Amino acid sequence: MHRMDRHLATLEHEELLVRRGPRSGLYCIVAVHSTVRGPGLGGCRMWSYADTQAAIADALRLSRAMTYKAAVAELALGGGKGVIMLRDGPPKGRARTAVLLDFADTVDAVSGRYITAEDVGTSARDMTVIARGTSHVSGLARARGGSGDPSPWTAVGVEAAVLASVERVHGGTSLKGRSAAVVGLGSVGLRLAQLLAKRGAKLIVADIDKRKRAEAAKLGARWMTPEKALLAPVDIVAPCALGGVLDDASVAALQAPVVAGAANNQLADESMAEQLQRRGVLWAPDFVANAGGIINIAVEFEPGGYDPRVARKRVQGVGDTLRAVYDAAAGGATPLAAAMSLARRNLSDARA
Ligand code: NAD
Repeated sequence: MHRMDRHLATLEHEELLVRRGPRSGLYCIVAVHSTVRGPGLGGCRMWSYADTQAAIADALRLSRAMTYKAAVAELALGGGKGVIMLRDGPPKGRARTAVLLDFADTVDAVSGRYITAEDVGTSARDMTVIARGTSHVSGLARARGGSGDPSPWTAVGVEAAVLASVERVHGGTSLKGRSAAVVGLGSVGLRLAQLLAKRGAKLIVADIDKRKRAEAAKLGARWMTPEKALLAPVDIVAPCALGGVLDDASVAALQAPVVAGAANNQLADESMAEQLQRRGVLWAPDFVANAGGIINIAVEFEPGGYDPRVARKRVQGVGDTLRAVYDAAAGGATPLAAAMSLARRNLSDARA
């Protein structure tokens, strides 16, 4: 069965809106998976797809994932996602403004049941353009009353996930004398590497972009290729680049007892969760470990408005959520299964 057919057959989503923007002529898609815990929040992905089915399938899949990410973190938010389907590469200048305003109209049409944010292919600057057409935008710059760049917060959340995982394996959270490999030195990975270095961890860092090598020297870290870093004999591996890194081959060859990182969709498929467990590797479910960014955004919707001090406390809560997941998995379930059932429970509690 085609992936999209499978999603449609589940009839899980509350809303799917596809509109062709009158300014740009491009399809703008908003998928709302669930508003049970609150408005469906999720980024706006501006991307080229093979066809409209693929673009719609992405919106459906990603909005569903947002529901579970927000639910496991106990946020008063649901799951949604926006997609702008490009035809010929990323638009610039006036053409970009046109499509962003078209997208804003699509967001506005669902009256706050979807709140947009930055995602792959869109920037903070794009959000300020979208804000001209709808108020349902999050993650605007601090100067504009928003919560700003989520990446540093995602890194703080992953750090908390690393500590909770190390504690589970070794009984304490100290990283002194422990080694960690951070694979992907982007906005989140570099911050995470800095945080782990501060805690005394010996670091290996890796990126496909060799220009990042200069950062390794600054961190006092060893530089390796991403393939080698992932399989290095370290205490912690933190995947912070793309998804799908944990597949049959890499899971069989992993040497680290803990894998906790920022990358979305780290498992090539869900059966990898069992394979990791069989190999005695503790894997922090990615949608628990990398929720710091959305937890930070959620503070915008708290009664007092955005406050970075509140955000720090909430984001550090990723550690406690993960401890609850590991506790629930103690009977033999995988951390993935435990995290999913925790998310489902939080959803049905909210429904009740
Ligand atoms: P980014 O684009 O800033 O950084 C990604 C880095 O990974 C880049 O330096 C890139 O060169 C490198 N890279 C790409 N392919 C690689 C490979 N095969 N091996 C090693 N390095 C590779 O992205 P980011 O914002 O730091 O996000 C990193 C990951 O975390 C992504 O999977 C993203 O979806 C996820 N995530 C990010 C946030 C956030 O707040 N930014 C929140 C949740 C999840």
